Amino acid sequence: MSQKEYNPYENMLAVLKQSAEKLGLDPDDYATLCYPERELKVSIPIKMDDGKVKVFEGYRVQHSSARGPCKGGIRFHQDANMDEVKALAAWMSFKCAVVNIPYGGAKGGIKVDPSKLSRDELIRLTRRYTTRILPIIGPDKDIPAPDVNTNGEVMAWIMDTYSMFQGHCVPGVVTGKPVEIGGSVGRVEATGRGVTIITYECLKVNDMDASSVAIAIQGMGNVGGTAADIFYNNGQKVVAVSDYTGGVYCEEGLPINEIRAFLAGGNTLNDYQNDKVTHITNDELITCKCDVLIPAALENQITADNAEAIQAKIIVEAANGPTTVEADEILNKKNVIVCPDILSNAGGVVVSYFEWVQNIQSLTWDLEEVNRTLNKIMLTAFNEVAELSKEKEVPMRMAAYMVAIKRITTAGKLRGGPISLG
Ligand code: GLU
Repeated sequence: MSQKEYNPYENMLAVLKQSAEKLGLDPDDYATLCYPERELKVSIPIKMDDGKVKVFEGYRVQHSSARGPCKGGIRFHQDANMDEVKALAAWMSFKCAVVNIPYGGAKGGIKVDPSKLSRDELIRLTRRYTTRILPIIGPDKDIPAPDVNTNGEVMAWIMDTYSMFQGHCVPGVVTGKPVEIGGSVGRVEATGRGVTIITYECLKVNDMDASSVAIAIQGMGNVGGTAADIFYNNGQKVVAVSDYTGGVYCEEGLPINEIRAFLAGGNTLNDYQNDKVTHITNDELITCKCDVLIPAALENQITADNAEAIQAKIIVEAANGPTTVEADEILNKKNVIVCPDILSNAGGVVVSYFEWVQNIQSLTWDLEEVNRTLNKIMLTAFNEVAELSKEKEVPMRMAAYMVAIKRITTAGKLRGGPISLG
């Protein structure tokens, strides 16, 4: 069966529609949620190292500010486009609402393969992009953060550029900064840590013994890599991992410490040598023999083409939008438990919120406080979603959307508009 053309925004709208119907949402509220409040497309001309000018395309979309300032990452990727950023912005609104932190949702991106640019070119690209989106960002308006192919260093350049225009240092304009310039301890690991918190809780409520489950993780970036480390250090069996070059599988469990050190040396998994492991493709990882599957790469990985063959009993979505609507239907029929992205990967934005709170108050939290509060917020959200899922007999994704939509529309109503006064 060939897959229909995937559009992340249409995927988001389809899930929103199903959840709004189940919730009996007011049509005015539903209509308002279908559109981002603001979409900005910018050109980013920069001088390349060879002296020639190249023009890149950038985006920043603010989906909702009903519950607070807009919040969400910026990704650098050759396939970034407006519809993807629009979907990701809406997912951020739902994510912040489901974990009940006082933010709306936004997302940004630049259509670029950052591995093809020198460091100097990347600095110029980031700074010029920041000036282009400058009128709509700020600690009270919209707060960017890292996402695919961006990190603390990129956030530092954004913070510096924004601060230059204000004439003073404004650390609260971005989160995910290096700790030395106002970042929060625990932020880099937060998304991966949150994924493990959700995984353990999901195993617990489903009476599955964490010590005997086999875990497969697609993607060894910051999120997948951190989750793999935590599981491995806790003694769990991680049987498969992958990066963009492919994956490795070992039924007895992989030596994650050795693999992480190998990848940290700038290597890729296709070059990893170990007699005990079998090399697999990314698609084979999705359908490999495991109990818990964690897609931690990009959108559109679990599709109508591979969902039927999935062997995992639990899927914890660490990436944003890894599952298509068609695949979701198949997984529901197979009784696979799917912990949805807007819940499972919310740990990153939760600790971003702690970072912003620390910046605004000019004080710092220690790691114990960060992780304890993260744990509390993630568990509260998981249990609210799990309870609603049970009560309404709907999958966890629909329950998570129902919780989120209710919170966003309630905020809008309290403010006197259909959703928000903008
Ligand atoms: N990019 C991350 C996400 O998709 C983090 C966003 C943030 O911290 O604002 O959730």
